[in-house]
Amino acid sequence: MCGIVGYTGRRPAGPILLDGLRRLEYRGYDSAGIALTDDDQRMYVAVATGKLDALVQKVEGHYPPATSGLGHTRWATHGEPSDRNAHPQLDPDGRVAVIHNGIVENFEALRAKYARGPFASDTDTEVLAHMLATRVEAGLDLLDALREVVGEAEGAFSVVVMAVDQPGRLVAARVGNAGGIVVGVGDGEHLLASDLNALLSQTRRVTFLEPGELVDITADAVRYVDLDGADLAKQVEVLSYDPVSATKGPYKHFMLKETFEQPEAVLNAIRGRYLVHPHRVDLSAELPPERFSETWARDLSRIVIVGMGTSMHSAMVGRHYFERFANLPTEVDNSSEFRYRQPVLDERTLVISIAQSGETVDTLAAMDEARRAGCTQITICNTPGAQTTRVADGAILMRVGPEIAVASTKTMLASMVLLHSLALYLGRLRGALSVETEAQQVEAVLRLPSAVGEALDLAPQMQALAEQYAGAEDFLFLGRGLGLPVAMEGALKLKEVSYIHAEGYAAGEMKHGPIALIDEKMPTVALAPQDDVADKMRSNIEQVRARRGEVIAVVSHGDRGLEGVATHLVELPEVDALLCPIVSTVPLQLLAYYIGLSRGADVDQPRNLAKTVTVE
Ligand code: GLU
Repeated sequence: MCGIVGYTGRRPAGPILLDGLRRLEYRGYDSAGIALTDDDQRMYVAVATGKLDALVQKVEGHYPPATSGLGHTRWATHGEPSDRNAHPQLDPDGRVAVIHNGIVENFEALRAKYARGPFASDTDTEVLAHMLATRVEAGLDLLDALREVVGEAEGAFSVVVMAVDQPGRLVAARVGNAGGIVVGVGDGEHLLASDLNALLSQTRRVTFLEPGELVDITADAVRYVDLDGADLAKQVEVLSYDPVSATKGPYKHFMLKETFEQPEAVLNAIRGRYLVHPHRVDLSAELPPERFSETWARDLSRIVIVGMGTSMHSAMVGRHYFERFANLPTEVDNSSEFRYRQPVLDERTLVISIAQSGETVDTLAAMDEARRAGCTQITICNTPGAQTTRVADGAILMRVGPEIAVASTKTMLASMVLLHSLALYLGRLRGALSVETEAQQVEAVLRLPSAVGEALDLAPQMQALAEQYAGAEDFLFLGRGLGLPVAMEGALKLKEVSYIHAEGYAAGEMKHGPIALIDEKMPTVALAPQDDVADKMRSNIEQVRARRGEVIAVVSHGDRGLEGVATHLVELPEVDALLCPIVSTVPLQLLAYYIGLSRGADVDQPRNLAKTVTVE
């Protein structure tokens, strides 16, 4: 959730940029900076570590009356929070300024190839400025230069650039699905921002960049192109003054908006926790080593994860991570079952609770039970200051912003990521994890925001499938291993937003009952990625097909092995097998959403359901 603002027009840019940054402050950050240019072809840059006030104090009253500029609040992914890592990042001659939200995955390869001089920061951003400067110096137009540069950069991110040689212009690109760009259209001025909030005090006339699009703004003109340079036409939307519809942006429902926010949600869960120099996980900010020490970790005998609904499904994914990385026996329990069962607990049990709201009554009761037994407790929560965070000994916040739709989406992905990070962290504290495995997993997680973004590209296919199957009255979701919780979540989402009866089952259980239900009227969604249970899943799919059941199989990237066996293949993007649930959940959310839409259900506020369940 880094913040981006840009302005070009006739008014002094400095105060407008600071006002925009101020409105992005709620997102959190660790440093901030602005760059201004004017016709005199000079670049004025100021950065400050820490709160925005530090930057304001530095620049107020000092900046030149330049009429274009860009501003950034950083939330580090690559390189510690510091002045030299703050954005804007510049080329060695200070002629090109870049602000960036997201991750350039191949930045090391790009650094090796395109350095114009020594690098002044540890960021993945700086190399973009070097690459741009070379092109601008060679006489390339800034828009074409950025097109070429983002064409070589891998990942999911957005970026805004400015060059002293081409004053009065800002050019921005959105690559992949993490982090959008909104363009604000004013009178004799244009603005850019990562977030509508930063623009609404200046204009209500906006457009939104889609992945793979660039925009070039000057005071009087705006031009949109795709990555090949072909011009695009965009209709300006005039936002109403209703703050709720304003925050919905271009989306019809909050559920769809929040589903599409997931690459950024994953990115925000990762920030500052998965580090790159060296590749390791650090949760010491939320789990202080004095309390969560190596001795404490080594002394643990087991883990119990509690949650309800979607949180319990994330817990089931987390179980695999704790067993594999931390070598700890792990159980998952539904909070409301756990609290009434008189579970056997002791001081060596770590209880992890997951609650999006942090106020779920059953989860709080389960935590009371754990407290009475003297267990250490860690909670994963999306609401700072919520009750679960006060009860637990340690809290890891999802940091994905408010989730308004009743059906959870982005909080599920964030909680899976956080359980993964906690498992790696505990694994290291316990001496159960090799440096190589940790590094490999961190590397794989850093690619997740773009993989989740690619999973969103499945939306048209899921919409078509939804239209085909919207008339079904029952659905079966099957999975094994890491696929089981995803199957259960797929069924839950479908029930919630379409009112279709759906069951999520362990595929191996099918023969013990559900197989009796299968006929041509009940579609099956099968989680069948290439993992160590892939062959077994294939047999289950064949069994469904033999009974004339139709199968939508969710398969690994490039895997055509089930062609001709399953009725439809949904191909996932490339992702590490252990992280697959974080990506394969996405098409199932989309399927549920579009089926709900086709059936005319109230997707954001399904009947009988509430967002925060404070009753038993
Ligand atoms: N990856 C960039 C960095 O660490 C951007 C961070 C951000 O999105 O704020 O500097």
